[in-house]
Amino acid sequence: MTARRQKKTKSGKAVRKQKKTPVKTALEEKEPKEKFEVEFYRDWCKGCGICAAFCPAGAISMNDKGEPEVSKPELCTGCTWCEIRCPDFAVQVKEKKEGEVCEA
Ligand code: SF4
Ligand code: SF4
Repeated sequence: MTARRQKKTKSGKAVRKQKKTPVKTALEEKEPKEKFEVEFYRDWCKGCGICAAFCPAGAISMNDKGEPEVSKPELCTGCTWCEIRCPDFAVQVKEKKEGEVCEA
């Protein structure tokens, strides 16, 4: 019979070795990015900027050409406000399928 070596405290009590649990980095704990896809129908868009102004997440901005673009897609919550507020029905918000989700 082999005697197992155990660590003991000063009082002589055996101390069990605790399993190490892997520590997740902040990056690993982050939710997958870009769960939603925001599409603009450029032919219908008049560049009024309402979608950018009403986006509560600040995901849409107007570019140098005066067109809306999703400059921070990772911030989009899929609330569809941009789609609802667009007077020209030029925005569509879609939820990405699992395979389409981009991870950082
Ligand atoms: S609200 Fe509609 S028309 Fe106005 S900039 Fe956005 S997409 Fe274009
Ligand atoms: S769905 Fe909501 S959060 Fe996403 S771009 Fe449109 S308004 Fe912004």
